[in-house]
Amino acid sequence: MPFKIMKCPECGKDCVLPAEDVLADIDSKYMACPNCAPEPELDKAKPLRHLPEGVERCPSCGRAPLDAVMLDALRILREFGLRDEEDTLRGVGSPLIAFGYPLAFSPRLGPRSLIIVGERLGRDAAEAMMKRIPEIKGVILSRGVPGVQGSLASPGENELLAGCDLRADIVQSLFGELVIYKSQSKIHIEFPRQSAPKMKILEQLYFQGKIRDVVDGLSGPGTLGLMCVLAGAERVVLNDAWLPAVQNVLLNLKANQRLLGWDEIEYPEGPAGIVGREPVLVCRTRGACEVEVYHGDLARLFSRARPAGLCLIDPFPGSNTKELEKACRSCNEIVIV
Ligand SMILES: [Zn+2]
Ligand SMILES: [Zn+2]
Repeated sequence: MPFKIMKCPECGKDCVLPAEDVLADIDSKYMACPNCAPEPELDKAKPLRHLPEGVERCPSCGRAPLDAVMLDALRILREFGLRDEEDTLRGVGSPLIAFGYPLAFSPRLGPRSLIIVGERLGRDAAEAMMKRIPEIKGVILSRGVPGVQGSLASPGENELLAGCDLRADIVQSLFGELVIYKSQSKIHIEFPRQSAPKMKILEQLYFQGKIRDVVDGLSGPGTLGLMCVLAGAERVVLNDAWLPAVQNVLLNLKANQRLLGWDEIEYPEGPAGIVGREPVLVCRTRGACEVEVYHGDLARLFSRARPAGLCLIDPFPGSNTKELEKACRSCNEIVIV
């Protein structure tokens, strides 16, 4: 195969591994080694003045408990005047591990394996975190939900303050597992949950024999559409108006190439602008399943793409689904996921 490691589209380094390599060691990736000290179990609600100076990394595997990394981050934020002695670990932000899946234990982190997303963060502090905390991969300033919502005119975006924002979620279903990479400062954050409700909906549709010819109308990085490929669909169309989402779909097609079995990936047309309007066919695969990826407004998708038996719509919370359903009425069945 042509690749072992793909260049990261965000930072140019080796953040992207083929899905099969990620899945091969995911179960032990964040586990303590036999020589790791027990969990420090720091109180997340305790003010900094009552917390220890720092927590040692394991002398044997070198990895750090999540609490240790968050404590180091809190100390740096305090140093830069963004927090004080009364602030807590909980107030640092949300920790996102580089390869996320529902963990039954608190993770032990190796180098460049944690992205912090939060408010009240600054660029200087973020750069200091990158320099001084080996486990930090990136720091993102949160400004609400990224992506295109409601109006196509004003896509929101969070800001990557330092490091790299590319991470992946391991998506699990009855059909198997996929590794879905996300440029996390530009893509909606979904925390992995054991009871994945969207996958349950796909599984039900599968048992009804409906995962054959599918459109994933607001695909984001491609989670639902690519899972339909894994479920054995013959044709899957993915569409999104938000260019960063479409670029993540293209990356995910490559990263999961062996699991999904493409023979060939073609890129017929280039995207037009950050927010697509008239649909453009940016990618097509040939193999057991025919996949088409469009960059454009869902309202205009079926002026280009052939309507499908099943149209999945995974809207942002609070968006007008009636309009979206109207746009997809040429498909046999519409399911709001
Ligand atoms: Zn990267
Ligand atoms: Zn260890």
